[in-house]
Amino acid sequence: MMGHSHALSGAAVWLAVAPALVALPGALGHPELAAITGPVLSPPELVAGAVVCAGAAMLPDLDHPSATIAQTFGPVTWLLSKGVNFVSGGHRHATHSLLFSSLAGVGAYLLGGHYAVARDILVVLMIGLAIRALGIGVPGKTLTSAVVNVALTAGLFVTFMTLGVTYSWLGPAIGVGCLVHVIGDCLTERGCPVLWPIKGRWLLPWDMGIKTGKAFEKQFLGPALSIVVIALLCLRLMPA
Ligand SMILES: [Zn+2]
Repeated sequence: MMGHSHALSGAAVWLAVAPALVALPGALGHPELAAITGPVLSPPELVAGAVVCAGAAMLPDLDHPSATIAQTFGPVTWLLSKGVNFVSGGHRHATHSLLFSSLAGVGAYLLGGHYAVARDILVVLMIGLAIRALGIGVPGKTLTSAVVNVALTAGLFVTFMTLGVTYSWLGPAIGVGCLVHVIGDCLTERGCPVLWPIKGRWLLPWDMGIKTGKAFEKQFLGPALSIVVIALLCLRLMPA
């Protein structure tokens, strides 16, 4: 699946499930669990969550150093990608699993809850990945695109800060983003090792899987996901 399909589906799923997710501790009679999901989301937090979840929906593909996503922040993300590729055993291995999604979510929750600087770095990285995935930049100009990305990322991060966004929901947003990526790739012809380290690829039967980057994804799925994200944003942000 292409980067922007992953990012858009991450944003769509977060906008769809986030309000229910933060209401869950109260509904279950365990308000103490709100420490994990965060309190009621303000509109800027909902938008910030959608951006972070979109970025997190790119994370599993950091196992692919030649993918455009690895060039988001030049050598920084390229090196990160090289490391992820080496540790995870290559493209579409460990990072495309339930285990990775869970560890990414728990790791982000623990890191973000204890170290403000680490939390901010994570948020900035997720914003940068989301902007890159949506194809915002100058075609064919890697360096200029990286500069545009850094400027936009910084602008969004400062805007969120000014609007009083807190990141108590960072762990769930990152976990959900990675999971959305894994599900998305399961819908493609190559599938994913969902239960890694247990062997076996999960994919649709009878060769029904989406062919990455082909007409269906570019001409139907991408536009459809964009409409869903815009519709959900209107639904969530418009006063009742
Ligand atoms: Zn992937």
